Amino acid sequence: MQAHDGMYIDGAWRPAAGPGTIEVTNPADGSLIATVPAGDADDVAAAVAAARAAFPAWSTTPPSERAARLGALHAALEARREEIAETVTAELGSPIGFSHAVHAAVPVAVCAGYAELAAGYAFEEKIGNSRVFHEPVGVVGAITPWNYPLHQIVAKVAPALAAGCTVVLKPAEDTPLVAQLFAEAVHEAGVPAGVFNLVTGLGPVAGQALAEHEDVDLVSFTGSTAVGRRIGAAAGGAVKNVALELGGKSANVILPGADLARAVKVGVANVMANSGQTCSAWTRMLVDAAHYDEAVRLAAAAVAKYVPGDPADEKTRVGPVVNAKQRDRVSGYIARGVEDGAELVAGGPDAPEGFERGCYVRPTVFAGVTPDMAIAQEEIFGPVLSILKYEDAEDALRIANGTVYGLAGAVWSEDEEEAVAFARRLETGQVDINGGRFNPMAPFGGYKQSGVGRELGKYGLGEYLQTKSLQL
Ligand code: NAD
Repeated sequence: MQAHDGMYIDGAWRPAAGPGTIEVTNPADGSLIATVPAGDADDVAAAVAAARAAFPAWSTTPPSERAARLGALHAALEARREEIAETVTAELGSPIGFSHAVHAAVPVAVCAGYAELAAGYAFEEKIGNSRVFHEPVGVVGAITPWNYPLHQIVAKVAPALAAGCTVVLKPAEDTPLVAQLFAEAVHEAGVPAGVFNLVTGLGPVAGQALAEHEDVDLVSFTGSTAVGRRIGAAAGGAVKNVALELGGKSANVILPGADLARAVKVGVANVMANSGQTCSAWTRMLVDAAHYDEAVRLAAAAVAKYVPGDPADEKTRVGPVVNAKQRDRVSGYIARGVEDGAELVAGGPDAPEGFERGCYVRPTVFAGVTPDMAIAQEEIFGPVLSILKYEDAEDALRIANGTVYGLAGAVWSEDEEEAVAFARRLETGQVDINGGRFNPMAPFGGYKQSGVGRELGKYGLGEYLQTKSLQL
């Protein structure tokens, strides 16, 4: 696969400061796809300097012009949908059908939404005798993970540009190729030099240098809670803005009387999508005692349809996980679940037959899971579902709220109002009612240790703005 051997800084591809490289491999078979430069603190400093220099002009560009650039970026991404899907399939291992439907389509839609929002947003309002201005925060350091690699880039860069901020992006080391594609699209869209900059590199080197750079005004991070905590602490020390999208252990609460077959089928699909590597996945299914055994039976039947396969094959529904470290982490959790006494209904810790070479994990369902088990508390980030039993609605609520996380969730009920009332009591940032579909304009973000701040739509745009009031 084609890759740039430089960094995209100040409107051009420039040689990296140091000689380090990152090997990008295909997790389906371990083959080498490409190498990209591993940037260091000097690359980050050059990118931040370019972003700082571009800020005065970009921040005062009329919103209509920023909207026009985002519209052009949307068109450039739209034209590359096929290439985006193939790239994500190669470097992440996502099944090609899912890559088309989600990894390519969602960021294109999000970008279109921000082009529209930038044009119509009220960057100024009147409160009594005050004129209140919503002004760009400044230079943004964006650090993104590999699981939805382009979506997570667009969910930060598009609102930042709409707000009038300039950006330095440090994408995940596992998925730098789609980030390079994005930089090409930004260039094609005529975004002025320095407004967007890309530094590929390792988290503890380039990522840390970006998060700690004193000329970065806002750090927007998506990834693990462990790294997010460190970034938050560093940002606090430097008194700079920070947005954190972290892990989750979301509950799928099926209330008695709900359409059990549908709730279980959609719930299993939600966990298996992207090989379970979704921060908002409903990895805990909560079912009342009377319907529990039936739910377990339905889940076992549903997961049997997720047969591991070659991600390049259109028919494949579940591919490998991103890398060997992730595979070992996930199979370690599966082994831990067995040790802790949970009942293995499907899957297990061994690699699926015939897929020992790639980074594959067997789609796994556990029953008999109790709330204190590690598989009910910790983010596994693999195709692993834990089914828990509750006694009554209060018990379901206690279990659902009984983790450190609060990113997403689901509630199913025959009575929508009952589901809404239950969802209001969940300590979580997003809840899908009876399978309500993903809304790319709705605010997305965490309660508790799932994060700080919101992405997407107008709330996502608001993260990149600060307010000034003039009293007249
Ligand atoms: P990670 O948090 O280490 O990586 C995310 C991003 O942060 C990457 O770009 C990485 O290079 C960067 N990074 C790493 N260390 C850094 C540091 N010290 N300073 C600045 N940036 C740094 O996540 P991971 O190791 O790729 O995955 C580990 C676990 O994190 C997963 O198993 C999963 O549980 C969780 N995760 C969550 C999400 C999410 O969307 N919430 C995404 C990816 C991973």
